[in-house]
Amino acid sequence: MDIAVSSKKLGLKERYALMTRGLGWEPSYQSIDDIFPMDTFEGIMIHDWDAWEDPFRLTMDSYWKYQAEKERKLYAILDAFAQSNGHLTVSDPRYINTVKLFAAGLAPLEYMSHRGFAHVSRQFRGVAPRVACMMQSLDELRHAQTQVHAISNYNRYYNGMAEFRHYHDHLPYLQVARSFFEDAATGGPFEFVVAIGFAFEYVLTNLVFVPFISGAAYNGDMGAMTFGFSAQSDEARHMTLGLEVIKFILEQDPANVPIIQKWLNKWTWRGVRVITLVAMMQDYMLPKRVMSWAEAWEIYFEENCGALFRDLARYGIVMPPCVDQIRKERDHLSHMAWCQFYQARGTLNFQPWLPTPEEMDWLSAKYPDTFDRYYRPRFEYWAKLEAEGTPFESTSVPMQCQVCQIPMFFTEPDDPMTLAQRHSHYKDEQYHFCSDYCREIFDDEPEKYIQSLIGGHEVFKGNAFGPDCDPTAEGFDPAAAVLNFWRINPDRDNGHFSGSEDETNFNLWRGLAKTNS
Ligand code: FE
Ligand code: ZN
Repeated sequence: MDIAVSSKKLGLKERYALMTRGLGWEPSYQSIDDIFPMDTFEGIMIHDWDAWEDPFRLTMDSYWKYQAEKERKLYAILDAFAQSNGHLTVSDPRYINTVKLFAAGLAPLEYMSHRGFAHVSRQFRGVAPRVACMMQSLDELRHAQTQVHAISNYNRYYNGMAEFRHYHDHLPYLQVARSFFEDAATGGPFEFVVAIGFAFEYVLTNLVFVPFISGAAYNGDMGAMTFGFSAQSDEARHMTLGLEVIKFILEQDPANVPIIQKWLNKWTWRGVRVITLVAMMQDYMLPKRVMSWAEAWEIYFEENCGALFRDLARYGIVMPPCVDQIRKERDHLSHMAWCQFYQARGTLNFQPWLPTPEEMDWLSAKYPDTFDRYYRPRFEYWAKLEAEGTPFESTSVPMQCQVCQIPMFFTEPDDPMTLAQRHSHYKDEQYHFCSDYCREIFDDEPEKYIQSLIGGHEVFKGNAFGPDCDPTAEGFDPAAAVLNFWRINPDRDNGHFSGSEDETNFNLWRGLAKTNS
């Protein structure tokens, strides 16, 4: 018998359409502008929201299925790493400082990214970009959680991690990362997706993830390596979203091009300023090194992003002008940063050290034009002072740039012997910047950046004391009060790595694993 049976199951394509765009509706008793009040003030013109190409092509049920699968694998490895005392198998106890930097500097950014994408997934009037942003928001929440779980294994044994969230909000060096995301999240929804979805996820993410994750693998940190790989497959989707966002906006109206160009200029610069932390980690903090910052820049920026910007040229987009200065700073960045961290080791939640003679030879080979000339003599001098029992340490809190919030240690791009300082006047106040590009960002939106909360400046304003502090009391010790407010345990969380509790414990525990005593 031939009876025609109509299929009850929908095809993949129909099902996908119904479960994403099909979930939107035309409002009948509210105006669309009242429902989506935030997607017009930035000046971006969208004429056809349906022209959006969905980059994720995932429905919610398949999303949960894939992610659950990844979680099971990830947690199996994290458990195995914890149960076999994996923290004792890392290359060298100095490596654990990288984990501390990651905990307080990067994991909270995943959470801020989650919140930012959740916010914009409510703000676009096009349903398809809302769905894509919602999925990225869920990914970012998962990243924050898995990173904190992986790091919690170290937190049971080592200092400087337990208060990572508080550090993120208050330690001066961590304001660099925090202010980057707060700046993006307080822009409009289009600026947020260009800043985070495109500039950060598409242009810069490989410069952050690849060195950290291959660094973790090289140094025996299975936990960090696994969460890295687990996040990397989401990252591929995020990069697709970032690219789609930019192409969609550029194709909608030629008037969007100058707005996008301005954001690309700003966020490429802000992004590379934040990545100073990664450059330093790569060149100085990994006991077993993967590649130098300069090499990573060549591969992940010059090659990959060079091709990308050539592709965007047909819309009238050009490479951000700041790239010239970034190229000039390429061979200085990590060295300037590590010098600063070494001097300011009292204000950190991790413990720096001076590079060994072999490590300095590696740096000379990787940076033949700069290391021996400008930085080796400084490290050798500091090593001499340490050997004489009078180590150098900066006892003050440095001035930070009003925009990127990095201490003002950068030198002039064409003169590595002169510190760079820029200034702007606004409403009878003077503001300070590390560079022309940070000043340009400030001058474009001064009302925004005069509100920057700057960790180091808060100290001098008297805002970095706890509520029970009495600065007028006899014998008041402001430095101790500030450390207390920051929840930094002197010498356990901060200070020099050699001779620290973490170093002593690691060597003792590893010794127990290898000997009979
Ligand atoms: Fe993420
Ligand atoms: Zn700056």
